Amino acid sequence: MSFIDSHCHLDFSEFEPNREQLIQQCRQQGINTFIVPGITLAQSKALIEFARRYPSIRIGAGLHPYFLSEYLDENLAKLTEFAHHHRDKIIAIGECGIDRSIDDLALQIHIFEYQIALANQLQLPLIVHHRKSHDLIAQSFKRCKPKYGGVIHAFSGSMQQAQYYIEQGFKLGVGGGITYERAQKTRHVIAQLDAKHLLLETDSPSMPLSGFQGQINTPLKLTRVFEQLCELKQLTGEDKALFKQQLYDSCSALFCI
Ligand SMILES: [Zn+2]
Repeated sequence: MSFIDSHCHLDFSEFEPNREQLIQQCRQQGINTFIVPGITLAQSKALIEFARRYPSIRIGAGLHPYFLSEYLDENLAKLTEFAHHHRDKIIAIGECGIDRSIDDLALQIHIFEYQIALANQLQLPLIVHHRKSHDLIAQSFKRCKPKYGGVIHAFSGSMQQAQYYIEQGFKLGVGGGITYERAQKTRHVIAQLDAKHLLLETDSPSMPLSGFQGQINTPLKLTRVFEQLCELKQLTGEDKALFKQQLYDSCSALFCI
């Protein structure tokens, strides 16, 4: 029985000096599989070789709203061509989504809906980034309904929002955010949901856990996220072991791992 870090950016330069060692340390803790999302066209392409080098790594292909310079219609066509060509090597479309802290929402929405349509064509789930944008994502889902579900990465929100995503076939990504006392609402929501609706993630090297602010986050922290989640759900002993298995199954079912 092992863990999957369903969202980590292990290809980032922060991990360059000791990536092999880190993967080895993770393995010792039972963290055996890592999902690395695509964030730009060039980086998504580079992930093909990256995943070939590290068999424990599975990859997505996508355009993240942070990288607006990639947002040319030409690049969308290239992403489509690339994703079709490497359909057997990618397990999701994303990280894509809508972020209200970034300008040009109309363009972000266009790019997001394009990637939903691409995921539908390829019969793949989506890895969705959100920030203050649940309403906009719901509008996009109405115009272009995802057919193969996906994950709402680093979910934070109300029970109503969580239920909406679950009805749309999505799971909710649970990461270091739940280790912060201030995340009361999200903690409360997550604690009430079944394992089949949740995925564990670290978003490494971002999103350090409470007590580790200012440090580079790594997938090694996944076990702490799991422990925190068990505490919120008041699980112990055998229930915990079962929960761990269910979380693994939830992730492997969504991404066909
Ligand atoms: Zn990410």
